[in-house]
Amino acid sequence: MTAMQCDLLVQGGTVFDGSGAPGVLADVAIVDGRIAAVGAHLGMQAGEVIDARGLAVAPGFIDIKTHSDFTLPINPRAESKVRQGVTTEIIGHCGFSVAPCLPDKVELLRDYLSPSAPWLPFRATDFAGYLGTFPATAVNAGMLVGHNTLRLMVMGMADRAPTAAELQGMIWLLEEGLQAGALGLSTGLFTAPGSYAQVPELHALGEVLRRHDARYFTHLRDESNGVIASVEEAIAFGEACGVHVQIVHFKCSGTDNWGKVSTALSMIEAARARGVRIDCDAYPYTAGSNPLKNILPQWVQAGGVAAMLERLREPATRDRIRADVAAQGLNNWGRVESWDSVRISISPNLPQHAGTTIAELGRVRGIDPVDALCDYLIEDKGATRVLVTSIAEDDVRTLIRSPDALVGSDGNCVADYGTVSQGMPHPRFYGTFPRVLGHYVREEQLVSLEQAIHKMTGATARALGLTDRGLLKPGWCADLALFEPEVFIDRSTYADPHRYPAGERTTVIVNGVVVVDNARHTGELPGKVLRRAPGGSVS
Ligand SMILES: [Zn+2]
Repeated sequence: MTAMQCDLLVQGGTVFDGSGAPGVLADVAIVDGRIAAVGAHLGMQAGEVIDARGLAVAPGFIDIKTHSDFTLPINPRAESKVRQGVTTEIIGHCGFSVAPCLPDKVELLRDYLSPSAPWLPFRATDFAGYLGTFPATAVNAGMLVGHNTLRLMVMGMADRAPTAAELQGMIWLLEEGLQAGALGLSTGLFTAPGSYAQVPELHALGEVLRRHDARYFTHLRDESNGVIASVEEAIAFGEACGVHVQIVHFKCSGTDNWGKVSTALSMIEAARARGVRIDCDAYPYTAGSNPLKNILPQWVQAGGVAAMLERLREPATRDRIRADVAAQGLNNWGRVESWDSVRISISPNLPQHAGTTIAELGRVRGIDPVDALCDYLIEDKGATRVLVTSIAEDDVRTLIRSPDALVGSDGNCVADYGTVSQGMPHPRFYGTFPRVLGHYVREEQLVSLEQAIHKMTGATARALGLTDRGLLKPGWCADLALFEPEVFIDRSTYADPHRYPAGERTTVIVNGVVVVDNARHTGELPGKVLRRAPGGSVS
């Protein structure tokens, strides 16, 4: 052993290997971007030594649920993620992917995704081209094919079942994506046009996933008043199609649904006991983020953004919205305490209003909040994003404690400078992982440090089929997160979101290259595009 030479030696830290095992004092030796050895006092010759005494040394965190496909090309350094210890992001979620994009559908896809991806250039590409030309980034990225995108390509915003030819068109596009290396299919069953898809269409696509040993990631059809039926739908998909199901950003939204998380977790456990492969993930916050238009009833959004904006001018539309909200709460979010629970976060055409709630908007303008909302959406061309406070803290805590719920941010990579520093994003963009480790592990002691790390690394890798990431063991990729366990915590808040976590010694290594050195970004971009191989393994 002493004769061995390594490129980088992480010396004297408390090593959490990602399996859920407690930390042990050990060194980690890295050669050619991979872990060469883990053990006490390796005593190797090293090109570079990192003194990790006093630090926790964990596998780099795998953010299983992000929309960073909308920001990575313009923010390849991915500061808000790597500063949290994230080394891999899974992108293309909720039915939204920027590929495949057919040559005559570029405008359509751009218009459709603009509320989520206001700064991203769009172009025609197949999935192989998308993966092959993805820019160099600080983090590794695994891509999903979005079902809403497939539907847009083949049948636009049509509110009906696909014809046989249209379904075949979606299948071909999905197969191209899977052959190129996509990890699987994402659905956003609450957002049009994905919401128009019924079970036969979804199971036909699930059959393609099964043939390719690929996976299914679903934003449930309903996360509020119909959440339990939606969990049943996801479990039934896994049972019928025989593929792994990931319920993403799991929550029970709306005051009428608080407490249902425990019921859903029991259903997931029972399904697993029957052999269904299923996981969920959650972020540690009580507010969610959405395009403002999506909290309106689905009939308001029918026919696309232009049709919706025209419709919103009509007083009858507004009366019907008021009645629907009074009866059922907000679309997908359920009942909220007041219009002060809906806060404008990013507003491309009216940036001065970021941080204002819909109730405040109504008060300032001296009009009813629903009128204020409709006027605002028209002025902002439908592109407004909002934060909606609608989740119970007790449910968040239940998910943090559960071994069945992984940690995913549902946040994009952004930074505190440049284009991506605009607006008021959800604090989860900057704070998800340190919030779990600092607030819920250290301050609240809800779960042990090794279990929390497992829910960000080893357990996540298993859910994704990653075969050489998520654990610290010889031969595996050298993705590491080093942090001070007594100090590391989120500093990003709803009012002041562009804040990196506390911890001056945070150091992050991606594929053996130091990306964050004592809380400073090195500018290195060693991330790789992950590809699923036949048989389902991803590397
Ligand atoms: Zn979603």
